[in-house]
Amino acid sequence: MRMKVFKFGGASVKDADAVRNVASIVHMHAGHKLGVVISAMGKTTDAMELIVEALCKRDELLFMERVDEREQFHKEILRQLFTDTNHSIYREVEVEFSALREMFKAPIPENFDFEYDQVVSLGEVVSTRIVNAYLQSEGVKSGWADARKLVRTDNKYREGEVDWNRTEALFQERFLPRFEECNVLVTQGFVGHTAEGFTTTLGREGSDFSAGIMAYCSNANDVTIWKDVPGMLNADPKWFDNTIKLDRISFREAIELAYYGASVIHPKTIKPLQNKEIPLYVKSFVEPEAEGTIVHSSTLSDNLIPSFIFKMNQTLFSFTPKDFSFLVEKNLSDIFARLDEANAKINIMQNSALNFSILVDGEKIDVERIKALFHDSYHVKYNENLELVTIRHYDQPTIERVTRDKDILLQQTTRETTRLVVKDRITL
Ligand code: ASP
Ligand code: MG
Repeated sequence: MRMKVFKFGGASVKDADAVRNVASIVHMHAGHKLGVVISAMGKTTDAMELIVEALCKRDELLFMERVDEREQFHKEILRQLFTDTNHSIYREVEVEFSALREMFKAPIPENFDFEYDQVVSLGEVVSTRIVNAYLQSEGVKSGWADARKLVRTDNKYREGEVDWNRTEALFQERFLPRFEECNVLVTQGFVGHTAEGFTTTLGREGSDFSAGIMAYCSNANDVTIWKDVPGMLNADPKWFDNTIKLDRISFREAIELAYYGASVIHPKTIKPLQNKEIPLYVKSFVEPEAEGTIVHSSTLSDNLIPSFIFKMNQTLFSFTPKDFSFLVEKNLSDIFARLDEANAKINIMQNSALNFSILVDGEKIDVERIKALFHDSYHVKYNENLELVTIRHYDQPTIERVTRDKDILLQQTTRETTRLVVKDRITL
């Protein structure tokens, strides 16, 4: 039996109207078996992060206040969706929040990441319970599936690595057979479980990846990620007018774009789909009939439109050995070891005989720490508030467009991609 996978992110279930819209999209596809992956509602994951913070700080008042706030947020949505306040969903949501309050009484948590996953995952648990109950109330033969019993990961809390063999077996044993009774199975994005049965999460924005996991492990026909944009665009509409939709692109191209930072789909989502050649659609939940983007195996339609991707708030470091030794493999591995210790994720790097430069996300890096880690053997210089612009399938007009009124500090070009580190030009 083949099914379709749908994924709805936080924005697509941010309030009661949004949930109704999800239900209407599900209705439009009533003829298919649907596996539906859903994120936490609206900004719930951020709110849950603040709840764990209060929990670990042992600030009971703040903790209870924040839990109440989130419970009220969900109850308000319930009141608009279910006029009958005796509907069992009210009780189900209360049970989840009571369990969360109980967590405060447990011994002081030792492992923050573990605690994080047990708490933050509840956002997805609650949202899927609500959406499933609403679909049922609308006459859909829908069932709730617990991703904490389907997606098996290792014990790396907050960044669980999927055990594909085990997960595939679990989907085959526990998930697919339920389509004999249900047309729709609703489950949580972002969450998984360890072999011992503890909850894990897959990393922020991980629900797209969950859709990829479900599709791979269920041999789905296709996946649709429903978004508030019309598809994959050639630039982020937050920064640019006149964006162009990419109608068809290859898996390869989608991985490249995601790698450089295009934020439409989570980078890990593509690989499982590519492995089984399961096409991915990115569509608008505002205009569900519109075409959207299809990501598939064929590379025939790539290379047409220049795409550009911005990373803001970048810091460029350059290291020069104090003894003026050339940068050979030995110093390079020493530099990498120090960067690893500083937890620096490198966005771009470049070297000359005496100089090694790296670009990192400004907010993720502690300049003082880097200086401290390097100063015994290297001169360290750095430059903050830069932008990294990546242009796939670049052409001269696009380069000019994105570098207008900017100084270029570094540029790297391959056949398909050019990357520029730029800084706003200060005009006197
Ligand atoms: N709710 C999670 C987050 O906001 C996962 C997701 O939405 O993709 O990061
Ligand atoms: Mg999201």
